[in-house]
Amino acid sequence: MNVAANPNDLSDVIAADKANVWHHLVQHAMFETVDPKIIVEGKGLRVWDATGREMIDAVSGGVWTVNVGYGRERIADAVRDQLVKMNYFAGASGSIPAALFAQKLISKMPGMSRVYYSNSGSEANEKAYKMIRQIAHKKYGGKKYKILFRERDYHGTTIAALASGGQPERAMQYGPFPEGFIQVPHCLEYRAQWDVEDYGRRAADAIEEVILREGPETVGGLVLEPITAGGGVIVPPEGYWPRVQEICEKYDILLHIDEVVCGMGRTGEWFGYQNFGVKPDIVTMAKGVASGYAAISCTVTTERVFDMFKDDASDPLGYFRDISTFGGCTAGPAAALENMKILEEENLLQNTKERGAQLMARLEKIKAKHEIVGDVRGMGLFQGLELVANRETKAPLDEKIVARVVAAVGARGVMIGMTNRSLPGLNNTLCLSPALIATAADIDAIADAVDAAIAEIAATL
Ligand code: PMP
Repeated sequence: MNVAANPNDLSDVIAADKANVWHHLVQHAMFETVDPKIIVEGKGLRVWDATGREMIDAVSGGVWTVNVGYGRERIADAVRDQLVKMNYFAGASGSIPAALFAQKLISKMPGMSRVYYSNSGSEANEKAYKMIRQIAHKKYGGKKYKILFRERDYHGTTIAALASGGQPERAMQYGPFPEGFIQVPHCLEYRAQWDVEDYGRRAADAIEEVILREGPETVGGLVLEPITAGGGVIVPPEGYWPRVQEICEKYDILLHIDEVVCGMGRTGEWFGYQNFGVKPDIVTMAKGVASGYAAISCTVTTERVFDMFKDDASDPLGYFRDISTFGGCTAGPAAALENMKILEEENLLQNTKERGAQLMARLEKIKAKHEIVGDVRGMGLFQGLELVANRETKAPLDEKIVARVVAAVGARGVMIGMTNRSLPGLNNTLCLSPALIATAADIDAIADAVDAAIAEIAATL
């Protein structure tokens, strides 16, 4: 069927969508009984769907993306001005916004110095893996090729990104995978794997155990989310990050931090890792970099990493042999530069800290009231509530019931998310991550809806 869509007539749009769009992460059978939700407008923290219904978006575009909120005319203007002047040239050449955004970004990342542009979080991570692999070839005869990743972390949807993902349910139908991606244990103390006082240090020691098992001479990189996002909003316990740093230095392993979710203010610092005093070799970012106004991702490295690709000019293949066609689009860095200016001028990092503290306090109260809330965790405007069937045993709440909670929050006009279906016991976390412009009243409205929805569903259990 071929439906001619008239964008001014939303019934046509819905028909066109149902006929021709293959949605992300959706079992399409459901559209036999309900229409796809078409979001037609956004302003600040609020969005409107095709039926005219207004919702508070407490997940920043569904997946932690729209950090500065919807309807930012100054970003649209900056992109438009740039596009009519110069929209694209392949990245072997430079552009004004690419240079200016890189300079601004690096000014917020002491110790880092080079920005490599691409378009998505998955792609930025692939670039980092290719850097680590090429360094293995250049410096270690190809031996130091393994890249460690952590259980529950996610680094994207391409085959190598899935190979380095700690959520097997996302990967299991897409193998076989490339070799050399090795998993280390998760660090969620609420579901502790070790009975020790110093849990953070113990969980990091587990990384060293894997390195020693694999052979340190074979391990070139370690990729970690600063706070695990889709895998359960897992904030590493105290002592974890300093020990990780120590281990990487000891075994000459490049530390790659995936800031795709935590980056650009989400945790109240520019980057998540800056909460923990850690010094990465490579940082990747996407989502909030331009708040979804344009597609852009960055793989940022230290000068030391960059130097490894230019220190042997006699080797004609020694430079980073990679390209991203659309990494040369100027819309991305033009939008990203304006996005950063907004974060600064509106003092949104400070707002994130304050509103984050308010949200956390409300969530702790919700936990105290409702037995089905097992744990509350997060940082800044990036928080989660893990739901359990039994607080003593921590048996997870059935995910269908968690989905009913999410729907009951939605019925109160607030969109929240839940973490990915996953290994038994580690999913079922409600995700709350509004745009960094949220006001105290917005946070109360979000928390009120969550509180009432949990009460409603808990009463039926
Ligand atoms: N890393 C993390 C931590 C993510 O959460 C995601 C996306 N949810 C990605 C990487 C992949 O980003 P993208 O979907 O833009 O490829």
